[in-house]
Amino acid sequence: MLNRREFLKTVAAAAAVPMVARQDAAPEWGSPVFDVHFHLRPQTAGNIAHLDGAGVSKANLLTRGPVQDQVKAVQAAAPGRFTWFNSYDVTQPGAEQALTEAVKSGAQGFGEMKFHVAADGPELRRMYTLAADLGVPILIHFQEVDHAPNEGTWSTGFAKTFGSILEAYPRTTFIGHADAFWANISADYHNDAVYPTGPVKRGGVTDKWLGDYENLFGDLSAVSGSNAMSRDPEFAAEFLKRHQDKLLFGSDCSCSDGHGKGYNNPAAPRIAGKCVARETLSVLKRSASPAVFQKIVWSNSQRLLRIPT
Ligand SMILES: [Zn+2]
Ligand SMILES: [Zn+2]
Repeated sequence: MLNRREFLKTVAAAAAVPMVARQDAAPEWGSPVFDVHFHLRPQTAGNIAHLDGAGVSKANLLTRGPVQDQVKAVQAAAPGRFTWFNSYDVTQPGAEQALTEAVKSGAQGFGEMKFHVAADGPELRRMYTLAADLGVPILIHFQEVDHAPNEGTWSTGFAKTFGSILEAYPRTTFIGHADAFWANISADYHNDAVYPTGPVKRGGVTDKWLGDYENLFGDLSAVSGSNAMSRDPEFAAEFLKRHQDKLLFGSDCSCSDGHGKGYNNPAAPRIAGKCVARETLSVLKRSASPAVFQKIVWSNSQRLLRIPT
């Protein structure tokens, strides 16, 4: 039996480590969840609030520029729950040095790489080589269609040229993400819709390359990933099974509480007021077996990012 003083001490200790307690609790999704695509938020508490609200155990912070102090603060507030990737403007001369230093300081990958350059242009080619030399994955945003006028395009030419990149950089681990990556699961995509709907035409390049190239992985985050898995349930079930070792759950969600508060993407009214993490986890849960779900939301990224268990 504890006396009153010991009891109070125990209560205080428990209250001081709510994040650890949260991780030990039965996971809401039936498996621990790792969010590979989580943008670093300005307030430390805001990062943790989204994970806790959405039932996510751990996340990979995507950052840009010199952010090491901020990352360290988040990691200190929630030990063991955050890894990080770093990015740097690839059109600037200091990119290679900055990213090399970030990896030396603990960054476990490059990302997200989202710049107005060609997927097979010299700027990104330098990054593909550097990622291979440093032994870290590179996470790329591919987008060919504006969401808003003059928004611009990113890592362009995916469907036409990225096969040759996968071929030319076998030592580089690529993680594909965003509109063009996911729209191209369907063979009938011609850089028209932002988030194409309806049945998937089999034979899209993304589907093909995930099968053909060991060094390509797919990040299911954002409306693009969620939409790709929702538009054709029969296709989604086959696709998740076929690429069960190559797919990674991610959210790319900007809601504040892990329940959709403040989320508004004008290009996707369907998801307004919802949490993208929850939307995607739900569609994965109903489309995949428990074993495949567990790989996609947890163990694939643990392996890829070499996170100790
Ligand atoms: Zn993105
Ligand atoms: Zn959310």
